[in-house]
Amino acid sequence: MQKEIEITLAPEENGEEQALKNVLSKALKVEISRIKDYKILKRSIDARSRKVIYRLQVRAFIDETPVVDAFVMKYGNVSNSKHVLIVGAGPAGLFAALQCIENGLKPIVLERGKDVKQRRRDLAAINKEGLVNTESNYCYGEGGAGTYSDGKLYTRSNKRGDIHKVLQLFVQHGATDDILVDARPHIGTNKLPHIITAIRETILNAGGEVRFDQKVTDLIVEFDRVRGVVVNGEERLLADAVILATGHSARDIYELLHRKHILVEAKPFALGVRIEHPQSIIDAAQYHCDIRSEFLPPAYYSLVEQVADRGVFSFCMCPGGIIAPCATHEQEIVVNGWSPSKRNNPYANSGTVVQVTLDDVAGEDPLRMMHFQAAIERTAFNLGGGSLVAPGQRMVDFVEGRVSADLPKNSYLPGTKSVMLKDTLPDFVHDSLKRALPQFGKKLRGYYTNEAILVGVESRSSSPVRIPRDKETFQHPQVAGLYPCAEGAGYAGGIVSAAIDGVNCANAVLRFS
Ligand SMILES: Cc1cc2nc3c(=O)[nH]c(=O)nc-3n(C[C@H](O)[C@H](O)[C@H](O)COP(=O)(O)OP(=O)(O)OC[C@H]3O[C@@H](n4cnc5c(N)ncnc54)[C@H](O)[C@@H]3O)c2cc1C
Repeated sequence: MQKEIEITLAPEENGEEQALKNVLSKALKVEISRIKDYKILKRSIDARSRKVIYRLQVRAFIDETPVVDAFVMKYGNVSNSKHVLIVGAGPAGLFAALQCIENGLKPIVLERGKDVKQRRRDLAAINKEGLVNTESNYCYGEGGAGTYSDGKLYTRSNKRGDIHKVLQLFVQHGATDDILVDARPHIGTNKLPHIITAIRETILNAGGEVRFDQKVTDLIVEFDRVRGVVVNGEERLLADAVILATGHSARDIYELLHRKHILVEAKPFALGVRIEHPQSIIDAAQYHCDIRSEFLPPAYYSLVEQVADRGVFSFCMCPGGIIAPCATHEQEIVVNGWSPSKRNNPYANSGTVVQVTLDDVAGEDPLRMMHFQAAIERTAFNLGGGSLVAPGQRMVDFVEGRVSADLPKNSYLPGTKSVMLKDTLPDFVHDSLKRALPQFGKKLRGYYTNEAILVGVESRSSSPVRIPRDKETFQHPQVAGLYPCAEGAGYAGGIVSAAIDGVNCANAVLRFS
């Protein structure tokens, strides 16, 4: 007999098999010896009251043992099948490739950056010397922006596709199966590169291809139909279908499309700063304690405030995290955040951004939001004074309009410089943040403090350009066979939603190309 039940556990009982069986036995009113096994279906932390607890949805197996039904996707060999070109090896490109194989098509993935191993050296140069390799950085290279990210796998895109299958594929390639049950699944920067490598191996073993240092510099279009791409300005690769999964930082791709009179559209995005607190402040606020119990993970928050007609919100919160320099061009500052699987750094950071609407940037140019974004990133660079030193300000100083006498110790490795962030942010972003931060402080005790630092600028939370596509066929309305995909095209935000969009584009290729 099987029974599903919701139970609660004290933090110290989480992960303890005997404790869980005891609780199940009491809750189900059956002797413990009759509970042969159990499966956790969902797990979350409930910190609403002073006593923090874990809530678990559990399936108990009473007087019966479960049949083991581990998910393993088996991939056939596609080396001699019709091929599909996939531009970009981010989550979208890689999951599109896996789905192409499942659909009996041969994916050829073209990635401008390097493989995960070689990419590491370029990240070290960014952090230690302030040098950006414009083809290999936190956004470009195998695994895309997802590889050296936090690996939070939480998404609201549940109507767009099979989230569970994406998570299962991550587990098949090395993630722990905790991600299948946790309310806020997380992998961690230290583990992601191995998983990305394993996905590449699956693609290669099935007869697909993943090519590095292959920057797509042109699209071959004849009679309103894509015929292939040009790589590194010279090599022509032909195909009937091209999935364009180049992410939101590939400005050259937007420029290329615009130059070729292939429709692109300006898109609203969000802009702001990364905010970092000592993790202990967030723990104390969320867990109602002075010092976090060793049985609880570093605490998380999510904050939102409407200021006049604008949304101000935190996103990509990284407990125990690091602020990362994520520029893709020289002389610009872009920040984002990541955390290792253990989330054991002493800081908590999150992007805190303000909506930027099309009306905020005058003109009709479809690339105007992108130029606006780039100009702010350059101003931040100049304000920092070079070598990726980022402009920073303490939180209360920012709101009260004074330069910070000094900056708190923080996790941003290239260094921070005390400035007036007002000088890099547009007025409406500055004013909205200024009004929202004290309000956030009312929602989260201790949040509004001069111990927190604001680091500029968080400008790549989403794409400033949309590449249109047909709702049913997923193809560009003017170019048959061209499949604009995921975050760079404006249809995803985050690892899982990008992966889902990759899967959807691969399925569209099977049906329509
Ligand atoms: C530091 C950091 C932390 C993040 N943390 C999280 C998180 O915890 N959870 C989450 O859900 N999301 C997170 N994100 C966002 C997430 O990584 C992106 O949403 C996701 O990677 C988008 O996937 P994508 O495949 O659409 O694009 P990308 O991941 O951007 O991949 C695009 C790929 O295309 C390649 N490319 C671009 N132009 C060309 C060209 N011309 N020719 C060939 N290749 C090209 C790029 O090199 C890149 O590898 C984070 C991002 C960063 C930078």
